[in-house]
Amino acid sequence: MSKRQSNQKRVATNCSRATGMGYIRCLDSAARGLISQHQPVPDAVTPEQRRFEARIAHTLADALRDRQLDGAVLGLQGVLLQGEQLTLRLHPVMARRVVADLLPTFDAGYGGLRGVPGLRPRRRGGDLFLVDVSSAAQVCLHGLDPSRGPTLTGAERGLTPVWRDAPDRLSRVERDELVYWESDGGIGRSTDARDLLFSRILRRPLLINRAGASHGWVNTYTHHEYDIVFEWCCGMSAEALAEVLRASGIESTVGAIDFRPALGREPHAERIDMADASIVLRCLNAPWCREEDSEGNARILQSNLRRYQ
Ligand SMILES: [Zn+2]
Repeated sequence: MSKRQSNQKRVATNCSRATGMGYIRCLDSAARGLISQHQPVPDAVTPEQRRFEARIAHTLADALRDRQLDGAVLGLQGVLLQGEQLTLRLHPVMARRVVADLLPTFDAGYGGLRGVPGLRPRRRGGDLFLVDVSSAAQVCLHGLDPSRGPTLTGAERGLTPVWRDAPDRLSRVERDELVYWESDGGIGRSTDARDLLFSRILRRPLLINRAGASHGWVNTYTHHEYDIVFEWCCGMSAEALAEVLRASGIESTVGAIDFRPALGREPHAERIDMADASIVLRCLNAPWCREEDSEGNARILQSNLRRYQ
């Protein structure tokens, strides 16, 4: 086997392990030069697609919290990358709730928008897509029964389904929300670097899912528009997961994007930083999931399942 062939095999293995796509398909991508050691998982091509995917990851992290099942972090069991098309493979039990959490709704109690601004559901040829009405960005969904449609959060009290009231255009509240997301905070923070980092997280679900490999339990949240936190009960150390993510090219730079941070800070072994955006990793080494207290873990799983019924 030539050095080039063995390199392609290594790249294909890395792609398959990060995305869940078949090895042969990944090997074909490597042979065609679509993936490399530097970048084993293809990036979203346009800034709009990266922003759309980043919003999906950020929104799900805040919405799902400790409700993820079976270690399917952000509700994902894998992705398919075909040309520029990203398909999310959703956990079948979580799927309807995941879509409901993504659909933009105005929450009168909270006084703001929930979900991803501009996101709308579209059916095409038996598949469900989530499209961005302000651009050509979109993702395809697998794992959701299309005949049942998404759970309608609008049915809950105090929620106005913006996605249904303005099916083909951005509403004013969504436009305001997008301006806020695109703002650099007045200090020159790179929104492009943030969007690329969060989009890359969405495209590497099987690496993130290693966090939940021990007991299926992962908690996700955000502090602000520039971070996503993943914390899990036990198993892989945060430092080890950070290493796995780095090896997948998550920190690789792209020519057109400014990666200089506006705010100085020390690098951290349990954090992936890109300009001012961060992925924060925390292994809690929690007492409640240890062997002698396995009932505690079963109780949490049961209670989590009930939240999807
Ligand atoms: Zn555990």
